[in-house]
Amino acid sequence: MPPRDRIAERARALDAADGLAAYRAAFTVPEGVIYLDGNSLGALPVKTADVLARVVTQEWGEGLIRSWNSAGWFDMAARIGGKIAPLVGAAPHEVIACDSTSVNLFKLIAAALQMRPGRSVILSEPGNFPTDLYMIAGLEAQGLAQRRLAPREELAQALGEDVALLMLTHVHYKTGALHDMAALTRAAHEAGALVLWDLSHSTGALPVDLRGVAADFAVGCGYKYLCGGPGAPAFAFVAERHHGRFAQPLTGWFGHAAPFAFSDDYDPASGIGQLQCGTPPVLGLAALEVGVDLIAEIGVAPLYAKSRALSEFFLACLADLDVALALVSPAASAQRGSQLSFRHPDAYAICQALIARGVIGDFRAPDVLRLGFAPAYLRFADVAEAARHLAEVVTGGEWQNPAFRQRAAVT
Ligand SMILES: *Cc1c(COP(=O)(O)O)cnc(C)c1O
Repeated sequence: MPPRDRIAERARALDAADGLAAYRAAFTVPEGVIYLDGNSLGALPVKTADVLARVVTQEWGEGLIRSWNSAGWFDMAARIGGKIAPLVGAAPHEVIACDSTSVNLFKLIAAALQMRPGRSVILSEPGNFPTDLYMIAGLEAQGLAQRRLAPREELAQALGEDVALLMLTHVHYKTGALHDMAALTRAAHEAGALVLWDLSHSTGALPVDLRGVAADFAVGCGYKYLCGGPGAPAFAFVAERHHGRFAQPLTGWFGHAAPFAFSDDYDPASGIGQLQCGTPPVLGLAALEVGVDLIAEIGVAPLYAKSRALSEFFLACLADLDVALALVSPAASAQRGSQLSFRHPDAYAICQALIARGVIGDFRAPDVLRLGFAPAYLRFADVAEAARHLAEVVTGGEWQNPAFRQRAAVT
């Protein structure tokens, strides 16, 4: 049997045995598209359009301002945070859905600095997601922080007495490599530092145990595996033991202990609610809630098992098709998130050639082709087809077409 048929047959068997297969129908995936970018913008849940239509026409259109109480808008951020909490091993009152990941990073870095007087270093690694590093730079420019970067093998040694906070991304956005959250959190605590985990590429795809590792702070993204829609509100976690002790600097009225007391003086809410700043984006939160409910219903453990099976199958297909691409992700699925990244000098053009064939992945500068395996809506048959397309694009030299070298603003 030719490899192509062998792969298709194997995919059929894997799909037939897939306990999550039925959930694909809960998402909108356009005909003719194989979507390998759910790690960047999650697919649209089928229900979202109806929920948004109801929130707009009934809750906003008819309920008007009454909906802050009657439709539960006022508590929405905390309610959705509470639903995200079990996905990351937190208690419901430790998580809130608010602002963007970038803004949440700023608030929590600043809070950590204040909790470690006399220490001003924020330790991270080079190549961390840009916004994470830029948010440290912003606080540095304010004279509040000092940025220190150390390669991942040297992080433990870089934890000196001047380090206030160790801030890392659990799953590396470009390579998918995992950090050992438990070991690094322990090392930071032993050095007297606090720890902030960015869970943007973890939440909804692989298990995280914030309480188990005794993390202090965490942030994560609402529009990736949680399928909350473009620019969805993010989330933030503060461990219960810091409630009443942490203070974030964006002291807007929604983080006040009693916003509707309209006092002249800021009195922060003691719990997670203090992380809110201004009025929450109700429409964005409504869309996020649909995605969170769906991912919570499917369950992180089965999602993780399927994500590993999908990426292992993809690599097996490439091997069977004799495609030799340099894998930059860890080869063992236990050591990576839900993605595979490959290095190629013409990764951009290869990515564009794949998109022209309906296989949507993405490119990360300067030379990485990144393919995400969002387990909630991908089939093994999609993975087999994607491998076949990639093999044809690479071995046929199709990517050399100059049209595939035109760069767009968003890659
Ligand atoms: C996607 C992502 C972000 C996104 O931040 P925004 O403020 O939503 O733009 C931040 N950090 C990491 C690690 C990410 O992967």
